[in-house]
Amino acid sequence: MPEIIPSPDPNYLMDLLKKIISFKTVAPPGGCYEEIVDWLVPIFREMGFATQKMVMPEDVFAAKCSDPRLVGDRNNMRADLSVGAEKTLVIYAHLDVVPAEGNWETDPFQAVAKNGRVYGRGISDCKGSIAALIAALKALLESGKPKYNLSVLLTTDEEVGGYSGLCYLTDLGQVKGDLMLCMDGFCDDVVIGSNGIIHWDVVVHGRSSHSGSSFLGINAVERSIPVMEALMDLKKVVQARRSLLPASSALEAIGKKNLMPMLNITMINGGIKENIVPDRCNLRGDRRVIPEESMDEAMAEIERTLKPLDVEFDLKFYPGYPPMSVNPNHAWVTEVREAVQRGMGFFPRLSGAQGSLDQAYATEKTNIPTCVFGVGRQLESNIHGLNENVRIADLNGFARFLIELLRL
Ligand SMILES: [Zn+2]
Repeated sequence: MPEIIPSPDPNYLMDLLKKIISFKTVAPPGGCYEEIVDWLVPIFREMGFATQKMVMPEDVFAAKCSDPRLVGDRNNMRADLSVGAEKTLVIYAHLDVVPAEGNWETDPFQAVAKNGRVYGRGISDCKGSIAALIAALKALLESGKPKYNLSVLLTTDEEVGGYSGLCYLTDLGQVKGDLMLCMDGFCDDVVIGSNGIIHWDVVVHGRSSHSGSSFLGINAVERSIPVMEALMDLKKVVQARRSLLPASSALEAIGKKNLMPMLNITMINGGIKENIVPDRCNLRGDRRVIPEESMDEAMAEIERTLKPLDVEFDLKFYPGYPPMSVNPNHAWVTEVREAVQRGMGFFPRLSGAQGSLDQAYATEKTNIPTCVFGVGRQLESNIHGLNENVRIADLNGFARFLIELLRL
């Protein structure tokens, strides 16, 4: 007898998507979290999941999320299904979306289908994957059980690099399992690595004076030039390095074959008036750290570069998410790629993300092997931009991929 593979209902998927897109979980400020979680809880309960709403306590919020743009409760949801399997799979996506400004062709908070695509804010990042997950689980659970116990984490504030979502759950010990699928990705490649990020901040000190006798002062803006030159020399050294991880297929298309580290000067601020010698100039930027580098060494390298300069300055670092790297030969990686092949009809490349992921924080702390795979396409979906969209075929394909990944 031929095997009957459960199939996601595309109409149900579209109905779910319409509802999910309608919640204005825009961060900042990060609203509607309670509303969307209250809507999700009964859906998961009906499928047999035990659900838990995890609201970040106000004191933790005050201590860890000192971003005045964020207001209201931080509601995260954990939904667990135990089927007596040996292993537990953690599935993660974030509920928040970036603001939808500008002239959209459709209402960004209504999922509108046209010409084989659906449009809406967050549809590719990552609400489309959440709708596909629910549709996949419904189809799968109606006809049997998954091969893994499941722990679904739907969280807050990813788009503001906030702590209240996956990082908070990680520190609470709520990220528990043997394998992890992060749906905050795209479907061109399976992402198994990412760059770490460090913000750096240099304040160059001088002494103010009347610019007519500027020899009496020390010009902090002019003293910033050797600092910038030293950083630009270091930039050449840093950016000549390459990771062994391939870059994403979108970057490969423009000749960037491997993941690369970055050193950028992105902000400069100094001086108050044309005729005052400035006593302070602030330079800021970031350093993207490939998995083969260490965050500590990247900071030490900047320190070593600036130290010999005959300039008075203060240097500070704000390390963010670490780099991530999963063994490309891990059985989980192969399993995910093969499920993509069966569900979506192509065998995906492996790649690394130039950007930095909260997933990397969870992977580093828990050591759970992770694959990042989502529903949008890097060059088509206009993630974070106007008219964000996904192919309807990809939505249904993503649900089929999940079924292939989970079915016995
Ligand atoms: Zn995202």
